[in-house]
Order: sequence, then C-alpha cells, then structure tokens
Amino acid sequence: MSKRDYYEVLGVEKGADQKEIKKAYRRLAQKFHPDRNPDDKTSAEKFREVSEAYEVLSDGEKRAAYDQFGHAGVDGQGGGGAGGGGFGGAGAGDFSDIFGDVFGDIFGGGGGRRRGPNAPARGSDLRYNLELDLENAVSGTTVDIRVPRHIECDRCDGDGAEPGTTKEVCPTCHGHGQVRMQQGFFAVQQACPTCHGTGVQIKVPCHKCNGDGRVRETRTLSVKIPPGVDTGDRIRLNAEGESGVNGGPPGDLYVQVAIKPHHIFERDGRHLQCEVPINFVDAALGGELEVPTLDGRVKLKIPPETQTGRLFRLRGKGVKPVRGGMPGDLLCKVVVETPVKLNDEQRDLLRQLQKSFDDSNSHSHSPKKTGFFDSVKSFFEDIKP
Ligand SMILES: [Zn+2]
Ligand SMILES: [Zn+2]
Repeated sequence: MSKRDYYEVLGVEKGADQKEIKKAYRRLAQKFHPDRNPDDKTSAEKFREVSEAYEVLSDGEKRAAYDQFGHAGVDGQGGGGAGGGGFGGAGAGDFSDIFGDVFGDIFGGGGGRRRGPNAPARGSDLRYNLELDLENAVSGTTVDIRVPRHIECDRCDGDGAEPGTTKEVCPTCHGHGQVRMQQGFFAVQQACPTCHGTGVQIKVPCHKCNGDGRVRETRTLSVKIPPGVDTGDRIRLNAEGESGVNGGPPGDLYVQVAIKPHHIFERDGRHLQCEVPINFVDAALGGELEVPTLDGRVKLKIPPETQTGRLFRLRGKGVKPVRGGMPGDLLCKVVVETPVKLNDEQRDLLRQLQKSFDDSNSHSHSPKKTGFFDSVKSFFEDIKP
C-alpha cells in the first residue's frame, strides 16, 4: 500500500507553518479519535495516518528529510508500531501539549513508533544568522563564519565505546531495545530506558566523546555571498550541517541573511531611498545638489520652487536583485531646512524678504499655506449655524 502525502493527509499546503499544522492535526485527531469512534476500523486507520503525518511534519528535522526525500526520508519513523497508538520520543510531548485537557494524558509515555535506534539518520540542518552591511550585500562578498556543530567522533568512529573494549547486551531488555509497558487499556512498547533502545550497554565509554559517538567542533567556513542579497534570503551549504547518525548523511547549513540598518539609505527590495537636506534658498531658486549613491556621489538638478518632501528618482542607482533583473532606482527625498545661527546681516536680509512678501500678496508665495487657510476658512463657514 503506497502512503499518502503527509501534507495531503493533514489537508495543509506544503509551506504551512507549525501553527497551521498543529491546528489541522488537532481537528482531524479529534474527529477520528478511537474514543469517539469505537470499533470503527476506518477511523482508527485515519487516526493512525493523521498521527503519523503530524509526527513527521511537526518535527523540523523529520519534515526537512520528508520534504527532500519523501517517505523514504522518514521511513521507519512513523508507521507500524504497537497496538492502540503510541507516539515516539518528542512526539509524546507534542501530543499531550496540544491536546491539553481534551484527552488528558492517556497517551503519556509514548511508545512503539520510535525509529530504530540503530537506523541511519540524517544529521540536523543548522542555521547561521549572518548580518551584512548594505554595501556588502549589494556588491557581494565572501564571509568567513565560525560554525559549531557535532561531527562523528574519530576516536571511536561514532561507536561510543572506547576502542579495544566491547559492548555488552543490555540486561534490562536483553538486547531487544524495547520493553513492554502496561498502561491502562494499552500495552505499549517503549524504548528501553537503560540502553535508550540500542540493546547494548557500553562498558567503557570512549574517552573523547564520553560514549556520545559525536563531538563538538567549530569550523570556519568561507561563504560566498552573491551580489544583491536581501534580508530573508537563505544560502544553503550542502552537507555542512550536523553529521548523520549511524552512517546517515549530514544535514545542510543554512546561512540566513539580514541586512544591517544603513545610516543614509533605506532599502526596499531593489530600490533605495535617502533624504537629502537642502537650504531654503536653493529650494526656492533651484540649483544643483550632490547626492550620495552606493557607488559615489552624483549631481542632482533641483528645479526652482522645489517643496520639501519632493522625491527625485535616479534610475538604475538602486540594487541589482540577486535573482536577476534590472537594478532598481534611488529615490531622493528633498528636505528643506530652516537656517539656524543667523548673524545680524542675514537676519536683516530675511526681514527685507519678509517685508517684500507682505507688500506683495504674501499668500501667493506659500502655496500650501494658502490652501491650508482656505480650508480652515471654509471649515468655519461650514459649521456656522
Ligand atoms: Zn568517541
Ligand atoms: Zn536495554
């Protein structure tokens, strides 16, 4: 019998987040729960299928393996198992967690579905958060990062036992790796607590890894950052994650990019924006401004009577996107500044200007002000009784 797609089983999209998955699972598990459907084989089968899908999709590691390799990637992790259910390892915690008081802890303790402890398992994916300057993100760069991870212990070759010593059959489970536990109506298979399901006991743990089979090391990796990356982009480094267990393949390393705030530019995808202050004389008379771009300064012509907040677009002075396409634009927002620290002469000149405004029709020199007072006037006229 070929298995149905886990996403299909839960009725969620491939990209569904944990919340959606949990919600879908809770709904379906309640619907098909054996307590609500006694002696109903179809419901029991559905309940098993839903639980299995949830066990894989709720676990980041298993889900990644499933996404990449399909059922083959997680085979033996779900399926099979003992009688009336049973949820392996971490699954047990998640289960009671999301059911809360609905089903109490009748499934507590978990059991049968555990992946064989000696089966090969893919190593975990790792994530590295990398902060980049805007300049480096735009031009591309190479960054050395230090990544702590677990690798197979080279003293015992991942075995956990000190070389030259032998392992013994576990006295609790006699090598089965599993023990049977009676819990209420259920008899569940559980990983042996003594040997954690391995069926053997290490007599002398490896001196280097203390019987873990893996050791921590910090590696320096050179990561090539392509030009144009933006916050949220991920760079995948194949097989640079945690090493696998029992001969499984290593996981991947994901470098998660975030761009640091820049003191001049604000980035919006492929476009950049900046504020350019100008004094009110240049704004009134027009002139040429020097504006910064990521590759040096350029001149920007400001027409006479430019108002504050006006945007000027410099085509192609933005960012060339990492996935290809035309570079974006640089938007310069002109901000008119009120002059400060005036000397007597400058103050005199401004007073002359003020008088000149007063003598002519002063409102016509201030388009916004005229509009503002016009609307205030009509506002008061409107509310007259
Ligand atoms: Zn070792
Ligand atoms: Zn045991």
